[in-house]
Amino acid sequence: MKIAIYPGSFDPITLGHMDIVRRAANIFDKLIICVMVNAEKNPMFNLEERLELVQRVTKDIPNVEADTSALLLADYAKKKNANVVVKGLRVLSDYERECQMALINKKINPDLDTFFLTASEQYTYLSSSIVKEMAEYRVKLEEFVPQEIIADIMGKVRV
Ligand code: ADP
Repeated sequence: MKIAIYPGSFDPITLGHMDIVRRAANIFDKLIICVMVNAEKNPMFNLEERLELVQRVTKDIPNVEADTSALLLADYAKKKNANVVVKGLRVLSDYERECQMALINKKINPDLDTFFLTASEQYTYLSSSIVKEMAEYRVKLEEFVPQEIIADIMGKVRV
């Protein structure tokens, strides 16, 4: 069974992340979305909240599960018997950062490969930080995040 891990901060999960999740779930037998602890210092959602949002929006995709981890990704993958890390690439700066991460992960765990998916065209500009910024300015979020988490995001912004 081919198990892949999709790690990130998911603060919050966006339609760009969902697009990668769906495409990766079609390629691998099982996809574990791992909400990583080593996130930003000032997240909008705490770890448990981020996990719950991910679970809520992926509950209908049978081969996807969500988890959190404070472990080093290379060690977490070993623990889960996964030898693939999935990453989405939007712009050149993602590539530079992700290439470095992929090489470090491979150094620590030689069985671990990183699988890159190009962001879909309509989501190349989309990031969790853009979503948070737009929420602050009351921009409608329908085109950026799954419908069922919009109220959670708007509930976090100042009134
Ligand atoms: P962000 O970069 O939005 O703060 P994360 O750290 O949660 O989000 O990102 C986790 C992974 O998802 C990374 O591989 C990142 O490149 C990818 N990703 C984030 N947003 C998108 C998007 N809009 N399209 C494709 N991949 C994305």
